[in-house]
Amino acid sequence: MSEYINELKFKYGYSEELSDFLSQLLPVIINYYGEEYKDVILSALSNCEIHFQSKDEDTKEYLNSYFGVNKEWEMPSLAGAFYHNEVDIRNNQVVAKPIVYVKSVYYGIYMPFDFNNDKQVSTLIHEICHLIKGYGKLKNENGKIIDSTGLMKVTYDYSQENGILDEKNDMVGIEEALNDVETAQILEMMTGRKQEVTGYKAAGYSATRLLEHSDLAKEIRISQFRGDDSWIKYLGEEASKLLIENFDILVNAMYISFKDINSKAKRELLYQKMAKAQELIDDFVDNYSTKRL
Ligand SMILES: [Zn+2]
Repeated sequence: MSEYINELKFKYGYSEELSDFLSQLLPVIINYYGEEYKDVILSALSNCEIHFQSKDEDTKEYLNSYFGVNKEWEMPSLAGAFYHNEVDIRNNQVVAKPIVYVKSVYYGIYMPFDFNNDKQVSTLIHEICHLIKGYGKLKNENGKIIDSTGLMKVTYDYSQENGILDEKNDMVGIEEALNDVETAQILEMMTGRKQEVTGYKAAGYSATRLLEHSDLAKEIRISQFRGDDSWIKYLGEEASKLLIENFDILVNAMYISFKDINSKAKRELLYQKMAKAQELIDDFVDNYSTKRL
């Protein structure tokens, strides 16, 4: 492992702190997801830079120059970090380049990353988990490019002349919720301290309960790493649709801007919608009986 970490350090110019952190984290992640995914985990980290925003760095400018593009990047101003895989068509070839970007500037205030802060560390682990489950998933199907990370799927419309035309995201909510649970469990193993699901709280709670059905946890894990829909076949269209839709409601609620819930009535409506979504998932979990006995 130390030779591998040294290579990463050399390749990306990683700091001592980040290198130490990775040498503690990677064995735990391999232990958590399973030895069978060791190669995927190590390759994913070798193939992607983890970048910490510097003091005067403009995120959009940095990303445009990093990927050689000129895009308007939309991102929530409070997000601590993100994983992005930039997909493009160059010389008739589909190409992709990933990044894990860790923000340090919030509303103009510079707050350097603190490896002793569990909340910040969990943000970084969350993105590394997206990266790992997104490694090597790019494929071309029926004239569309499909990329995925875990259960989450991005479908790109494209043409050879004009490149990427449109993108559509599916199964974001359920994967975010699962990813949050995984992150909390990994951090707990790493620190020995009890960790709460901090990102998507309500969704994380439901996902934790869902994963208590060990057959489901197993099917989901296989699909996450294969980037396929075998978990949907296992559960059936109807049940998986219920989970997908209601996890989306819970996770999307975190991105609703204040102006859309600026009255008591609007907030009530949102809380009701979330409560209903949670209830539907919990009912499913309570009534689920293992299929293969
Ligand atoms: Zn995420």
